[in-house]
Amino acid sequence: MDNLTISKAADRFALLDHSPIGHFVLNRDFTVLFWNKCLEAWTGIRRGQIVGESISVRFPHLGEEKYVSRIKSTFGGGPPTIFSSQLHKQIIPAPLPGGKLRFQYTIVTALPEPANDCYHALFSIQDVTSLTEAIDNNRVVLQKALAEMEERRKVEAELVKYTEELKRLNRALKERSIRDGLTGLFNHRYFYYVLRRDFLLSIRNREDLACLLLDLDHFKEINDNHGHPFGDKVLKNVAARIGRIVRETDVVSRYGGEEFAILLPGTDLAGALVAAEKIRTRIGNRPFGHDSRDIRVTVSIGIATCKEHRPPKPEDLLAFADKALYAAKASGRNCVVAYAPEGGKSN
Ligand code: GH3
Ligand code: MG
Ligand code: MG
Repeated sequence: MDNLTISKAADRFALLDHSPIGHFVLNRDFTVLFWNKCLEAWTGIRRGQIVGESISVRFPHLGEEKYVSRIKSTFGGGPPTIFSSQLHKQIIPAPLPGGKLRFQYTIVTALPEPANDCYHALFSIQDVTSLTEAIDNNRVVLQKALAEMEERRKVEAELVKYTEELKRLNRALKERSIRDGLTGLFNHRYFYYVLRRDFLLSIRNREDLACLLLDLDHFKEINDNHGHPFGDKVLKNVAARIGRIVRETDVVSRYGGEEFAILLPGTDLAGALVAAEKIRTRIGNRPFGHDSRDIRVTVSIGIATCKEHRPPKPEDLLAFADKALYAAKASGRNCVVAYAPEGGKSN
């Protein structure tokens, strides 16, 4: 490249020396035609040093195919080509005072050269370091926010888990409050609740309701003779045996120490007598094992039903069954007695 061409180019592009953007112009053969003051400041390479030289001498990456093919399209007068800071970072590596390289956003424009009926390539390089850093910072902030959100989501999931656990514990607590600890049957309190409910249901549905009150015979002796732990074992066993006889809908409760109350919804007196007999024999005829001995335990059962005995209130149904139980005890125990107003009749 001769000096005239160089000085003509300097004149032609003089305006670009005032621009805060890095500009350089390439000839078709990739030699540098112009190099502005901004690039001198960024790179320390003076115009006189680089003009006339192929751009890939100092910047070999610009000789790579991915750049060459796109720059060449400019020499054909094609539309501007962009090398973004995200993809290319630097077209002309230029360090900042701290040593970090500037992020650059580059547009390559086709510049007509009427004299030779061709195009030059004008590179305009904007320093977008602060913008890129701001974007990066925002990304960091965003990532932090996302991480916090994730953390919150986890905490909320944990909370849901604990709330569920708490609900489960409350249910268990409630369950415990209605159960008897020794036998697992419903307790006295719950029995009263069910008695009132089933009494009302029996009226509404015009169905019968039977109540059985069961008391272990001479249980004090069983305890005295074989020990309290064995007595407990018998109570548990009796509960299990009753449970195997009654229906799903029946309610069995440990009414007192060695007393059990059973509600049989939809069961009339005849049905209740059958169930009670079954319970009595299942307990009385099958001894309980203790120290390789068989201990026989019998029960007395009193029965009352709504249709037969017409109790005015739920508590009366229970009181009638209790009277019948008393009669069963009085008539020698190990038997089932249905309530009768005059004092109960044996079955
Ligand atoms: P009856 O045939 O008249 O019913 O005589 P009984 O000995 O069974 O009657 P009583 O009411 O005099 O005695 C009941 C006994 O039940 C007294 C008590 O020691 C025993 N008992 C009550 N609760 C429990 C318990 O939880 N475990 C044990 N092992 N015994 C209990
Ligand atoms: Mg007893
Ligand atoms: Mg008793």
